[in-house]
Amino acid sequence: NNNIIDIPSLQWYPGHMRKAERLVKENLKLVDVVVELLDARIPMSSANPVLREIVNGKPRLIVLNKADLADETATRAWVKYFAAEGLTAVPVDAVKGRGVKELVQAIAKCAKPKTDKLVHHGAKARAARCMILGIPNVGKSSLINRLSGGSKTKVENRPGITRAKQWIRLGAQLELLDMPGILWPKFEDQNAALHLAFTGAINDNVYDVASVVLLLLDTLRTAYPSDLMERYRLEGELPSGAALLEEIGRKRGCLRAGGKIDYEKAEQIVLTDFRSGRLGRVTLDVLPSIPATENAR
Ligand code: GDP
Repeated sequence: NNNIIDIPSLQWYPGHMRKAERLVKENLKLVDVVVELLDARIPMSSANPVLREIVNGKPRLIVLNKADLADETATRAWVKYFAAEGLTAVPVDAVKGRGVKELVQAIAKCAKPKTDKLVHHGAKARAARCMILGIPNVGKSSLINRLSGGSKTKVENRPGITRAKQWIRLGAQLELLDMPGILWPKFEDQNAALHLAFTGAINDNVYDVASVVLLLLDTLRTAYPSDLMERYRLEGELPSGAALLEEIGRKRGCLRAGGKIDYEKAEQIVLTDFRSGRLGRVTLDVLPSIPATENAR
């Protein structure tokens, strides 16, 4: 096995995946609209590979979360990409609440055909119901907290719905299921797995940190060299591979007794700086040049 990210050691295994899928399907029955959270830095790698099948035609919209950490130009391009697929994508910072107002409006718009249809068929008008779906760590809980504005306005229990499941009212027209749907990431694709590791979506103890950091540095050196140079005060031509890590370690004073570079410390600095946005706003997933229309909806 030459893979850097070793799949069997991840938390997801077939039984676990089937259970997650079943739970999501059960909750799907309760909603009109699915809000799919993606990480704006890795809109492809953070997608669940079978979500389209699971959602099965239900109106869906995309949140490009952690947009505060992503390259703004790339995010705009991703929004256009999804639009070409017929999907609304809203950039959001779930921690600071940026984009949340726009998101609520987009959800309402997405749900309207469904709720209008209910009324047209003689039903009593009711709020549109939605749920939030995404891979672990993408920001589902943060977004639910943001949307609920801290003080959750609970909706009365409904027959047939477990008491534990609560609904949060978002304005007059919308209700959100206060329980995210959790699905597994696309880890069978080594490039996606790497991007998930870079962003911290995969636990650091299931892969070789040293190899992953070298690959991250290599990616940044190619795509965002000036951010690297600025952060670590590097000048001239950037070295590649371990030499770049060594230089960063030297600049940051990661030294062991005898003046040797403490590589492990340097690796942690790079990872923490990258994940917190101190290495600039970076988008790792490169936009496919042609919209993948065969994957639409
Ligand atoms: P969940 O597992 O999908 O529910 O993810 P959480 O809501 O627990 O978020 C995982 C981590 O990402 C937490 O450390 C959050 O603070 C962070 N996070 C969530 N949304 C954002 C965002 O929009 N921007 C940034 N910078 N961090 C975020």
